[in-house]
Amino acid sequence: MPLVHGTELFQAARKGHYAIGAFNTNNLEWTRAILKGAQELNVPVLIQTSMGAAKYMGGYELCKQLIEATVKSMAITVPVVIHLDHGDYEAAKEAIAAGYNSVMFDGHDLPFAENVEKTKEIVALAHSKGISVEAEVGSIGGEEDGVVGEGELASVEEAKTLAATGIDFLAAGIGNIHGQYPDNWKGLHFDRLQEIADAVDLPLVLHGGSGIPQEQVEKAIHMGISKLNINTECQLAFAKATREYIEAGKDKQGKGYDPRKLLAPGTQAITDTFEEICGWMGTKPVKLVPQEL
Ligand SMILES: [Zn+2]
Repeated sequence: MPLVHGTELFQAARKGHYAIGAFNTNNLEWTRAILKGAQELNVPVLIQTSMGAAKYMGGYELCKQLIEATVKSMAITVPVVIHLDHGDYEAAKEAIAAGYNSVMFDGHDLPFAENVEKTKEIVALAHSKGISVEAEVGSIGGEEDGVVGEGELASVEEAKTLAATGIDFLAAGIGNIHGQYPDNWKGLHFDRLQEIADAVDLPLVLHGGSGIPQEQVEKAIHMGISKLNINTECQLAFAKATREYIEAGKDKQGKGYDPRKLLAPGTQAITDTFEEICGWMGTKPVKLVPQEL
């Protein structure tokens, strides 16, 4: 079974100056599309559920079992990390109990001292079960599942303090935002990223990876970003392909209304998006990830 935690995978990515994609799933089609792309490219992948997606799908237990069973039924051989995206304290504990391989505890809206204390608790609990932990310093702008970040730039001192809790990877606000980027967006704060990368030896995480100009992401990856979160880009690709199918009247031809036909173009669009992004972000094929995996 290729299910693994994220620690060594992302450490190898940081050392090798490449990133591994962290793709959000919403359902069976999404899960299959992401796994298909990873298997076709022979690259490791992280599949994550937000709290909202897990609720929509029927809970952490179901998400974990769905992904695990899909990995088995598709005979997936590449390493797969099942991760909780932006979990609060309770959600992180629930996902750990449900058997996720990795969790993000997002305490950015707590007073910093409390964020640190709760991160330590989650790290102790997760590490006792061999589960990796991501934490967030600063905040990611925009809105995701009702979580609104103001886009506060990460402090280097806070990044060091949070890293010292024993977390496995660190998400830092460096001007990135969730959702679609506004036309007047000022770009990533590379100076701050460099300061954090110099101060913290952990793999760094770039949230809101959809919509940042490719050359900025490539530069960020070279500087220490090892986990690139992609969500909106797959949503837009799915919606576009589905809309084209319906606008072409294909749902009215023969049995084109069959959900297996109706959802096929959108599902393929997710796989295509996955393969395109993994191609340019330099994700290394499986033979180059750590031997112990
Ligand atoms: Zn995020």
